[in-house]
Formats: sequence, C-alpha cells, structure tokens
Amino acid sequence: MTRCARNFLTIDVEEWFHICGVDGRLAFDRWPSLESRVEYTTDLALDLLARRAIRATFFVLGWIADRHPALVARIVSAGHEVGSHGWAHRRVYELDEASFGEDLARTTAALEAAGAPRPIGYRAPEWSINDRAMWALGVLARRGFRYDSSMTPLRLIGNPRYPRVPHRRETAGGSLIEIPPLTTRRLGQRVPLGGGWGLRMSRPATVAREIAACNQRGEPVTLFVHPWELDPNPPQVDLPWPLRFSHYFRLEGFAERLDAILSSADFGPIGEWALAFEGT
Ligand SMILES: [Zn+2]
Repeated sequence: MTRCARNFLTIDVEEWFHICGVDGRLAFDRWPSLESRVEYTTDLALDLLARRAIRATFFVLGWIADRHPALVARIVSAGHEVGSHGWAHRRVYELDEASFGEDLARTTAALEAAGAPRPIGYRAPEWSINDRAMWALGVLARRGFRYDSSMTPLRLIGNPRYPRVPHRRETAGGSLIEIPPLTTRRLGQRVPLGGGWGLRMSRPATVAREIAACNQRGEPVTLFVHPWELDPNPPQVDLPWPLRFSHYFRLEGFAERLDAILSSADFGPIGEWALAFEGT
C-alpha cells in the first residue's frame, strides 16, 4: 500500500510580473516585452522537489502554458500534477460566469496542448473566489473540476468564516472539494502561514510544528509558493506598499527555508487525495 501524503505543496506557475491590480508598466499588453524568468525559476522548484522526491501540484497559468509548453511537459514528466491557474491572472470576482467559463476552457486547452492531462483542480489568482464570486464554484463543478483551492479563511481577501480545512461544497453545478491554504491564529487574529509573506517570514521549525499539529488532528496542510519567490535575482518593480510587502518581503534565503519545511513532513499532489476524499 502506498503511503497517503498528508500535506500539499502547491506552486502557482506565473511570471514575476503577474501581479493582480497593477497596471502601467506591468499591464497585460506589456507582458510579451518583459523579461521571462518562469522557466528558470520553475526549474529551480522542480530541482528542489526532485532532491526531496516530493510530488506537488503546479497550478499553471494558461498564458504561460501557451508560451512555454515545454515547461508544462517537464512538470508532467517529473510526475507532478498540473492544475489550472486561469488564463491571464485576472481576479475571478472581476469576471462574470460566461467570461470565467471561457477563461477556464482556454486554459484547459493550452494545458492539454502542452501535454498535461485534463486538469481537475483550479487555483484562482489572489484567492479571488470569495463572497463576491461564489458563483464560480458552480462553474468549476459544471466544467468537470473536482476540487478548488481558491478560498482563504482570512479577512479582506477571503472570509474568516470559511472553513480552514479541506471540505466538500455543494454548488449549483455539483459538488466540489475546497482546499484552503494553511493559516494560523496569532494574537486573536487568523493570519496567513501557508504561503506569501506569512510563510517567508516564519522560521521553518515554527511551520513544521504547525503542520505536525494539524496532521495530528487528521488535517492535511496546504502550502503555496510561486516560482518568482525562488529567484535568486528577482527583477524588482516599484509597487504600492501592501503589494511591495507581499511580493518582496524576506525573499532572501526562502529556498533554503522551504527546503527545511519540506524535509519535516509528507507532501503529495492534491488531485489523488481529492479523488480518494470524494469516495469517503
Ligand atoms: Zn497567481
């Protein structure tokens, strides 16, 4: 019997310039002229995982799959799961049902054209399936997605009332499993821990302790990283304050800290776990 992975490492495959809500220099029509670093940085993630013999879930942007099909093929041939991160890194609540459905279909087609199996999992840019976009879950279920990982139990971007552990949700299009990112409580507030600045600023031992505590309660933990967070020499742009913090705070040494966290627990792709969970 194979040991069932208890935790999920997820990687949102996008460029350093895929930042929600930033226009001007980083606007959509400028993307083709900006330096592409996604192959180099995603390969760093693939190397790190290969050294630890860990399989992960890569949520790939359709725009990336279309321009870098060989990268998608490398992810697949290394045994990882490929999920959908949508086409152009637009927040889901800025779309409507029809345009979200088209975005999903276009992304699935690009992933399949690059050699990935049809994705069964979706991750929205910036955790943007929230109270403003609950309709999106029905669209995902109707289009054959079996799980979603786009709702965070945090204020402002999500809602602290959302469950903080994987759970089944009934939607107009059928049932779907929701996989929230790891959060924890600090000073009476729920705070991010599974990715972004919350993960980058934490000591590996602190994260490992939190993962062990969740696993002891039978709860799998979901971490999320971006290839650009592993870039030893990331291009920097002048961003407004909260974005500057969430993108650049404590990037130095992150690859080593992530490696230490990965050595402390069992990790595997979400898809296999979600299909087994569906049957329970
Ligand atoms: Zn993203």
